[in-house]
Amino acid sequence: MHTEEDCLFCRIVAGTVPSTKVFENSTTYAFKDVHPQAKVHVLVVPKKHYADVHELAESDPAELADIISVAQHIADEEYHGHFRLEFNTGEDAGQSVFHVHAHVLTGEKLEE
Ligand code: 5GP
Ligand code: ZN
Repeated sequence: MHTEEDCLFCRIVAGTVPSTKVFENSTTYAFKDVHPQAKVHVLVVPKKHYADVHELAESDPAELADIISVAQHIADEEYHGHFRLEFNTGEDAGQSVFHVHAHVLTGEKLEE
């Protein structure tokens, strides 16, 4: 089980690992991905630690809805509201950080 000390995204939320902030409210934090896969590639995370989107949906569905609203807000600002939202869930799907994060890809027309 990850704790704030050993979870990279808990450390980013706490500010002990630097990040480029895009949006923040009392429960949610959004920052630029260090290896962008689109013109705008933002990660949106709950400040509270959940391992994956299933755990988040079970424990705090309102926060999941908030993350989707933040994604929409970013896309409204960056690219007339069009965006792709990805939750890689599990190692075999490419999840490498086990603090749930939404990948928001926008800022340009995306490849299919
Ligand atoms: P996953 O592979 O778990 O779906 O996504 C993890 C994402 O986190 C990757 O896209 C990776 O580029 C990004 N990432 C990994 N380490 C850091 C970091 O220290 N800072 C930021 N801003 N992004 C990171
Ligand atoms: Zn965490």
